[in-house]
Parts: sequence; C-alpha cells; structure tokens
Amino acid sequence: MNQGAGQVDPRRSIPRTDALLALPDVVAARERLSEATIAARIRAVTDRARRCELAPGDVVAAVVDAVTRTGPSTQTSVLNATGVVVHTNLGRAPLGDAAIAAIVDAAGYVDVEMDLDTGVRSKRGVGARDALLTACPAAEDALAVNNGAAALVLATTALAAGREVIVSRGELIEIGAGFRLPDLIASTGARLREVGTTNRTHLADYADAVGPDTGCLLKVHPSNFRVSGFTSGVDVAALARLGRDRGIPLVVDLGSGLLTPDPVLPDEPDATTALRAGADLTTASGDKLLGGPQAGVILGRADLVQRLSKHPLARAVRIDKLALAALEATVAGPVAPVMRSLHADPQRLRERTEALADAVGGELVAHDGRVGGGGAPGIPLPGFAVRLPESAACPLRTGTPAVLARVHDGATLVDLRCIPENDDQCVADAVRAAMEPR
Ligand SMILES: *Cc1c(COP(=O)(O)O)cnc(C)c1O
Repeated sequence: MNQGAGQVDPRRSIPRTDALLALPDVVAARERLSEATIAARIRAVTDRARRCELAPGDVVAAVVDAVTRTGPSTQTSVLNATGVVVHTNLGRAPLGDAAIAAIVDAAGYVDVEMDLDTGVRSKRGVGARDALLTACPAAEDALAVNNGAAALVLATTALAAGREVIVSRGELIEIGAGFRLPDLIASTGARLREVGTTNRTHLADYADAVGPDTGCLLKVHPSNFRVSGFTSGVDVAALARLGRDRGIPLVVDLGSGLLTPDPVLPDEPDATTALRAGADLTTASGDKLLGGPQAGVILGRADLVQRLSKHPLARAVRIDKLALAALEATVAGPVAPVMRSLHADPQRLRERTEALADAVGGELVAHDGRVGGGGAPGIPLPGFAVRLPESAACPLRTGTPAVLARVHDGATLVDLRCIPENDDQCVADAVRAAMEPR
C-alpha cells in the first residue's frame, strides 16, 4: 500500500533496542545467553518488524519469546512418535540413562587419560575397550573412533594406502546425505578395485583381483537398500579363507553395530558372527543398533587393531571423551533404548496405544515401525498407532514438548514404540493440545 504523505510510518513505533534490552525478561536472559546472542535474537525480531512481517505492538512479546524459548543451544528434544527406531534426522540412537549419567560425569575434568591409582598417564579409552571385549569375546582387541565412516577410513588407510581395496560392485553404497563409500575410500589414498557386477559377485571375482598390490579385502553390508532377484554375494567365511590363503586381511563394514545376532533382525550382520567366520576386522557405527553415541567401533585381530591405533590418522578421527564415556556405559550398562524399542512387546504396545486412543479420542490402527537409520531395510516391526487428522502433525511438531508423528496417507499416525512409557502422558497431553481448535 502506498504510504501517503502525512501518514506516520508504523515502523517508527518499533520499540528501540535499548528499551528492549532493558525488559526484565531480557535482563534475566543474561544468566543463560551471551550478550551477542541476545542482541542477535532481538535484531532478528526488529528486522522482521521493519520488513512489516510483525506489527510493532507485537515486538516486545516476540523478543521475550526469542530470549526465553530456547537456551544457548537451540537443539530441541523431541518425542519420537514415528515408530522409526534409529531416526537419522532425530540424532539416531537416543541414549539410555547409564550413558547420559556417564556423559554428565565426563563433562568436567575426568580421568580419560590418567590412572588415578598410580597418578601416571594411561591410555585413552581402556574402559570402553574392555567393555567392548567383554560384550564381544570373539574380538581380540577393540578401538573406538569418531564415527563409522572414520572407522572404515582408518582401516582402509592403515591397511591399503597406496594399494588396492578389493570390494564387490554390489556393495558400493551411498551411506546418506550424498556420502559415497567409494569416494570415502578413495579419499584415503587407497585405490578401489571393484569386482563382480551390481547383482552378482563370485569368489573367483575376488580371487582373480588379488595381486601384489592388494592391501585388503572389504565386505560392506549394504545396510540401507536391498537388491533382490537374481543376486549372489560371497559370504564372510569364504572371503576370509581367500584372505588367509593369500595373506590379505578381510575388513567387514557391518554398519549397524550389532555385537551379537538379533532374532528380530535375522539378516542384520553382527560382529561376533563375522569375526567367528574369519573377518580380521569389523567396523560399525556406535549410534545405530548398538544404541550408543556417535562413534565408530573397530573390533578384531589384536595386531591389526594396534596398527590402526598407531596410524597418524587415528589422531584425526579420535573419539571425544563424552562419546567414549557414553559408549562404555551403553555397552556395559542395561539394555539401551534402541533395543527396548526394537523388542517392544506388541501386547504392551497395544495396551498403551489403546489408552492413548481413549484419552485423545483417536482411532487405534495397526502400524509397522521400522529400524531406520540405514539398518534392516524393509523389515517391518509390527505394532500400533493412534490415527489423527493430518492437520495435527504440525501443532504436534511445534508444540512443547515437540512430538514428531508419522504423516502418511492423509493422516497423522502416533506410534508409541520409541516413546519411553513414562512419557505416554506427555504425548496424550500434547495430542489433546494439538487437536484444540486455534
Ligand atoms: C552407517 C554406515 C556407515 C557410516 O557410519 P557413520 O557412523 O554414519 O559414519 C558406513 N558403512 C555402513 C555399512 C553403514 O551402514
């Protein structure tokens, strides 16, 4: 609209910054936020008012909201009502109480590289190593690094830099967000020697490729997709035999981090089985089915694990003390939330979902959960959900607490599989609030 002469520009009534800085809520926010953060959050509000996206009369309320709604970290905790257990966009595995307590303890000064009995320097990560070896006795040694990709890069670099890594074409996967395994390995200075075809690779393909330049054999679990139909691959035992005959180590990238077989996921590889079948090293993520923090877990032959840990790159992919503490507590502690959600008792799930449906006036429907996070693609986890109108999803997501439900087929589906039972009441309250007419 044209601003006629003589009319006062409403933007002139935007409160001045010094007045906003003097608001009691803003003054109080200095306990929680830096000056620069407060100034930036105020500026974001006044800029919106200057662009006429916000009425000048609403500026004070918006500023108060901006400095009180979130603390210095803007990450907001979310109740995962999608039924997807390892949800990549929600930070993969939620930590259990034992891991959370360990992180809090490790947050200050901590004996991560100090033996308190003798007062001398000790090796970093011995506790996590011992916990992993107790949980997976098939491994001679263990090393934790920054993440699964780092574990793989460290293994291929230490074993095959300047040489060849032999891998099946059917296993050249993209692990997510555009990161491709072949690029990752090439970045280490090892050359990929691809064998077989997308759908079929035979032992002879590997055997023919082995030569003086071979650094290692690599088997990758294609954790986020499935090739079906006319397919064949070579199992770990056969590859391990080939490797032993030719004196070449076999690295198996498991991906999901199961240490032992899980009956719910019969096709998901695990470290114990791979090592017993002859794998020399396995690599995996800490925050998928292992249920811990972001980490990479390397298990296997003692001489090779030592070689990896002494490689200069090991320092660049070092795990931080918080993750180390959480990893140890996850492995040594009680069943982690990921496993509780994966193995949720269907009968109990049904009772909880029925109670929610009754409380909010929604409809109980059958609903399959998923492993998610690039694990066990296509495996349904039979369960239940409360069906709500599609319009409930947005207020649920943006409410307090934030509840992420699944939007599917024109409906919002609230699945309690990944919700701790203690939070059922929270979810019911959130759903009721989301259904209120606004
Ligand atoms: C997830 C995955 C990775 C990458 O692990 P990050 O922990 O995400 O770095 C590598 N390989 C496989 C097979 C995976 O499933």
